[in-house]
Amino acid sequence: KDFRNDVKPNWCPGCGDFSVQAALQRAAANVGLEPENLAVISGIGCSGRISGYIHSYGFHGIHGRALPIAQGVKMANRDLTVIASGGDGDGFAIGMAHTVHAIRRNIDITYIVMDNQIYGLTKGQTSPRSAAGFKTKSTPSGSIEQAISPMELALTAGATFVAQSFSTDLKDLTALIEAGIKHKGFSLINVFSPCVTYNKVNTYDWFKENLTKLSDVEGYDPHNREMAMQTLMKYNGLVTGLIYQNTEQKSYQELVHGYSETPLSKADLKLDQNYFDKLVAEFM
Ligand code: SF4
Repeated sequence: KDFRNDVKPNWCPGCGDFSVQAALQRAAANVGLEPENLAVISGIGCSGRISGYIHSYGFHGIHGRALPIAQGVKMANRDLTVIASGGDGDGFAIGMAHTVHAIRRNIDITYIVMDNQIYGLTKGQTSPRSAAGFKTKSTPSGSIEQAISPMELALTAGATFVAQSFSTDLKDLTALIEAGIKHKGFSLINVFSPCVTYNKVNTYDWFKENLTKLSDVEGYDPHNREMAMQTLMKYNGLVTGLIYQNTEQKSYQELVHGYSETPLSKADLKLDQNYFDKLVAEFM
């Protein structure tokens, strides 16, 4: 199936988000989805535009709120594969509370974060993923704050699927998105997606020099949470691949009372004029 549409992305030439778009389109096709079975819900930021660049249902939400919307979509229609997406500012600053609670809730959606360690849409300010000392127009003397470590944070929040990739590793990223879609629960995929316009430190070359593939770490076991945490700490979070997966824990959908019998999209809501008149009368 073809998940491309005729909308031309207005990302800067060379932006890492192009590869994320391509990987998502390929992964959706590889797992056998039809466009009408996929919903891509995004937040605000350059990366938030992705929901308009995929041939599927799409919703470009509000800043930091892709996850609440995505969770609502999934709860209303379990037949949809739901992808939430956004940037590191969107997910790890204003949307951080939603990220943590969606993780511990283990709701069956995939969250792709395009992590460029800066705010791109607002023209280059320090984000929660910017390293200490990082100079931008909002921190001209260098950031005095430490960067958030999203993978460690996800593990401590009880994540059942944690992965990280680099936008040029199209094959690996596609495979991780496929695995995230198939995972029965919440899957978090953080993608190093360079901002070529504003981040002159964390460039493609910088990532190539500093990233380690977990497939090259001898004896690495993505089902061992302790090993996952120790490895992240050892490599300062700069690893790519499947970091951790727990297939034993049930998803929110499997646990929530009544959901499996009557998802909202299938329920007979009797949405006729009489229903609305009665509803309005109750509030008068
Ligand atoms: Fe990509 Fe940065 Fe351009 Fe935004 S400003 S489209 S993140 S390169």
